[in-house]
Amino acid sequence: MKSTSIRMKPLIAANWKMNKSIKEADSFIKEFNKFCDSNTADIVICPPFTIMPSLSGMIKGTGIKLGSQNMHFEERGAFTGEISPLMVRELNCEYVIIGHSERRQYFKEDDALINKKVKSALNHGLKPILCVGETLEQRQSKSAMKVIKNQIAGCLNNVDKYEMKNIVIAYEPVWAIGTGKNATPEQAQEVHAYIKKLLSEIYSDSIASKVRIIYGGSVKPENAKELLSMKDIYGALVGGASLDAKSFAAICNSV
Ligand code: PEP
Repeated sequence: MKSTSIRMKPLIAANWKMNKSIKEADSFIKEFNKFCDSNTADIVICPPFTIMPSLSGMIKGTGIKLGSQNMHFEERGAFTGEISPLMVRELNCEYVIIGHSERRQYFKEDDALINKKVKSALNHGLKPILCVGETLEQRQSKSAMKVIKNQIAGCLNNVDKYEMKNIVIAYEPVWAIGTGKNATPEQAQEVHAYIKKLLSEIYSDSIASKVRIIYGGSVKPENAKELLSMKDIYGALVGGASLDAKSFAAICNSV
C-alpha cells in the first residue's frame, strides 16, 4: 500500500499517437464522460496536433487536461514540421510527453536533445512527462538499470530542483509498448523504486517523494488495478487502450 503521508494524486495519461479524427475525438469524449467516474486522478489526453484546438473545447469543464505528444525546444523559427512550446501553450496544453521511445527510435532523439526539450517545457510552464525505459536486449543483458540511470542523468541534466515537482517520469520498458506484454507489477515496482532512489541521490529524498513516476507499456483495464496498487507507481501512460473510451475510463476508474 502507498503511504498516506506522501500520497500524490495519480496521473493517467492517454497517448493517442497518430490516431483519431476530430469527429472520432468528439465521440470519444462523450462516451468517456459517461463511463469515467474517477475523481481521484489527474486525467490527461495527448491527441495529434490537428485535434488539439477542437479537443481543448470539448474537454472544457470536464476536468480532463490537455497534453502534447511532443514539442521543439525553440519558440519559433525555420523548423519545418515542428511545433513550439508557445503554440501548445496557446491551446491550454498543460503537459507534454518528451522522449517517448518512438521519438527516440524513429526520430533519433537522444538524451541531450530530450534534456533541451525538458528545460524548454519547464521554462514555458508546461509539465514534461519524461519517458525512460530499456529495450528487451538491454533487459536480457541485465543492463536495464544502467540504461535508466544514464537516461535520467542525461535528460535531467541541470534541471533545477525547484522544477522537479512539475515533472512526471514515465517508466516505459520498450519491450512492453504496443506488444500486449506488460511488465509485471513487481518488475515495474523495482524500476520505479530505483528511479526514486536516483532522484534522491541527484536531488533529495524530499524532492524524490514529490515526483510522480508513472508506468507505461500495455496497460489495460485487466492489469491496471494491480499495477497502480504498487507502492511507487503513481499513474499510467496508456497507448493502445486509451483509444477506446470505455477501456480508458475503466483504467481511470481503477485508481
Ligand atoms: C505508449 O506508447 O506510451 C504506450 C504505453 O503504448 P501501449 O499502452 O499501447 O503499450
